[in-house]
Amino acid sequence: MPQRKSKLGKMISIPNELAMNTFEQMIERGHERICFHQDPQSGLRAIIAIHSTKLGNALGGTRRWHYATEADAIYDVLRLSEGMTYKAAVAGLAMGGAKSVVLLPRPGLAGSESEARAMGRFVEKFDGDYIAAEDVGVNPQYIDWMALETKHVMGGEKVSVGGDPSPHTAHGTLNAMKAALEHLGKPVDFSGLTVAIQGIGHVGYILAKILLDAGAKVIAAEINENTRKHASSELGLEFVENDKALFASVCDILAPCALGGVIDANRARTLKCSIIAGAANNVLDDPDEDAAALKNQGILYVPDFIANAGGVIQLSGTYLGLTEAQIERKIADIEITTTQVLKSSESMSSTHAAAVALANERIAAGPMATQEQVHAR
Ligand code: NAD
Repeated sequence: MPQRKSKLGKMISIPNELAMNTFEQMIERGHERICFHQDPQSGLRAIIAIHSTKLGNALGGTRRWHYATEADAIYDVLRLSEGMTYKAAVAGLAMGGAKSVVLLPRPGLAGSESEARAMGRFVEKFDGDYIAAEDVGVNPQYIDWMALETKHVMGGEKVSVGGDPSPHTAHGTLNAMKAALEHLGKPVDFSGLTVAIQGIGHVGYILAKILLDAGAKVIAAEINENTRKHASSELGLEFVENDKALFASVCDILAPCALGGVIDANRARTLKCSIIAGAANNVLDDPDEDAAALKNQGILYVPDFIANAGGVIQLSGTYLGLTEAQIERKIADIEITTTQVLKSSESMSSTHAAAVALANERIAAGPMATQEQVHAR
């Protein structure tokens, strides 16, 4: 079983991270705060984790998910919120990183107004230190229900602002793919390329459409039958039987756009793609180990928190009062940042290590440096 030394000096097996107590995990990842809440009327059980407010108030989506155990939910919210800190820093946003999860009693349970409003009241207690937004299982309607109870939420359409960030995320991911092609010395032209997308949800669907329009061949895996039917009839999208078949496919670019933890060092050895660039958060099971394994396999991995930053740029940018042009510029800049990280990774263990180094550099420089960078454009 793979082991690594934790920052607390313990040797831990990777899956046993789940067994670390919450304080140990917080110290290991550098979290500021984690807060649990239950609301008897709506049945809400939720956790908010703030990883860092060093660059500003912390924005991060609310994920509604059925977790097998409470430990899984804690692990997920801590991991996701840490990623948000890096994502905002690398995107040059004066924002911190946080995330929240709503623990569903069964898979696929639709969000109700009473649950969303209870979640809104929970978010309100942070008085703006935490700003919620969409993630898996949450749509603009849910955000608008939350917004009836708090102004610290982004991504609704009627009560709050920002709208669905998914189109911005999809465009940002495309920009990351362009940089990866260029880095490999290939033409930045999608016609004739095969892109394999896992998950044809909010982001995956738009990404598939953009790539098809650009002339790419897109193959996909999606577990939801209705989504598959819709994408087949609307886009003519070709589906393989399941993820296993998708990950075994020969393709130029693999774009994970479902959930995290889909690539580990073992799977890395079986992949038949040249580039991995997708929208999913926490694509790698163990980022340090797996990103190095991908490098050894000659697969160019664009760190998830760079490739999928388009949505957070849109929502944070709106929250910070950036103009539409500044927001668009920053989403376009994902291509430049990706290029910079891929270049600097050549002398490092992996692209993930290079991206974390850039994030830490920006966090150390502080919020003023980030703001100056934005207003200089
Ligand atoms: P979504 O829930 O709309 O879509 C996910 C899709 O993946 C669903 O259609 C689901 O059925 C499918 N899926 C789940 N497990 C699968 C599996 N094993 N194989 C194949 N398909 C599977 O979510 P989304 O908003 O499109 O986000 C997708 C990913 O991108 C998530 O990891 C999310 O955290 C991340 N992300 C999204 C945004 C955004 O703007 N929406 C921004 C940054 C990151």
